[in-house]
Amino acid sequence: MSRAAKITVDLDAIRHNYRLARSLNPEGNAAAIIKADGYGHGAVVIAKALESEADAFGVACIEEGVELIEAGIKKPVLLLEGFFEANELEYISDNDMWCAVHSLPQIEQIATATLSKPITVWLKMNSGMNRLGIHPDDYQAAYERLKQLDNVANVVLMTHFACADELEKSETEAQLATFNRAAEGIDAPASMANSAGVLAWSDSRRDWMRPGIMLYGATPFPESQENADQLISAMTLTSEIIAVRNVQPGESVGYGSHFCADKLTRVATVALGYADGYPRHAVTGTPVWVNGQRSRIIGRVSMDMLTIDLTELPDADVGTEVEFWGKNLPAAEVAPYCGTIPYTLFTGITRRVHKRYI
Ligand code: PLP
Repeated sequence: MSRAAKITVDLDAIRHNYRLARSLNPEGNAAAIIKADGYGHGAVVIAKALESEADAFGVACIEEGVELIEAGIKKPVLLLEGFFEANELEYISDNDMWCAVHSLPQIEQIATATLSKPITVWLKMNSGMNRLGIHPDDYQAAYERLKQLDNVANVVLMTHFACADELEKSETEAQLATFNRAAEGIDAPASMANSAGVLAWSDSRRDWMRPGIMLYGATPFPESQENADQLISAMTLTSEIIAVRNVQPGESVGYGSHFCADKLTRVATVALGYADGYPRHAVTGTPVWVNGQRSRIIGRVSMDMLTIDLTELPDADVGTEVEFWGKNLPAAEVAPYCGTIPYTLFTGITRRVHKRYI
């Protein structure tokens, strides 16, 4: 019997979540964002599961795009971070990939490249996030320059939100207004919405949505709201109990003796640790799911093991499965106990954890 730590990825859940995004804007398109190996779920498998219905796929960089092309994915693959070296443009052109462009020098690199075919460029505007993108004052000129180039076939207008997951903040309205003002009069498709935009900011949905985290069934919002309630968790992380013992009052558990029992406590050791990607920062009290009910982590998470409280679970024993997030325990609920967000939980799962698709 091998170590039981595994993730189970529900491809129907991902298809359901993609359809939910599309249903919120039936006239528009949606590029399924599968960068970082499909947020840890397996980019190639997800691309194949979605290929008949997804309008395009979004990855961060050329290496992630090559993986999809070599796996035979035929739908357009968009490089969200753009190109890093001018020589990537040849591959982009040869393979009909789409590429974000976020600076004026990059436009000139496209102008002088030798390409087999003109490419589709997603022209990124810095509408307020101040990370990547062309200044709104330079945007019209950048667009006009791209339109002159023989190496450019189509241009999609693009920006990215900083705070769309915080519904009470004014930044998203401000970014929408900046984008609309700077792109006024340009006759080209537009793309703004990440998952939070898709779910909650109807004005941002436009021609091309870019849902990421919602495809995997996690809400981008700190507290779930209407549309996010329809998402279905795709990744379930489980492992098994490998030892059980009683700990007396005053005895401690794990590294640093961080947890000290104040009463007789039945403690289980589970084969999952931070080297599997379970966060070491998970505090005592982080929820887990055992035999149809909640229990909690106690003590520090070690590299290969962690400990949970079985005092209220007399039927659980060696071999019992423990769920850490997934079908019964939303990752968004677990993440705050670890000082993080579902994105890092999903992308942090390591190679050692078996992956199973259903
Ligand atoms: N668009 C861009 C440019 C991104 O960088 C990302 C992810 O960070 C997304 C879309 C998808 O965001 P989310 O996972 O919040 O839906």
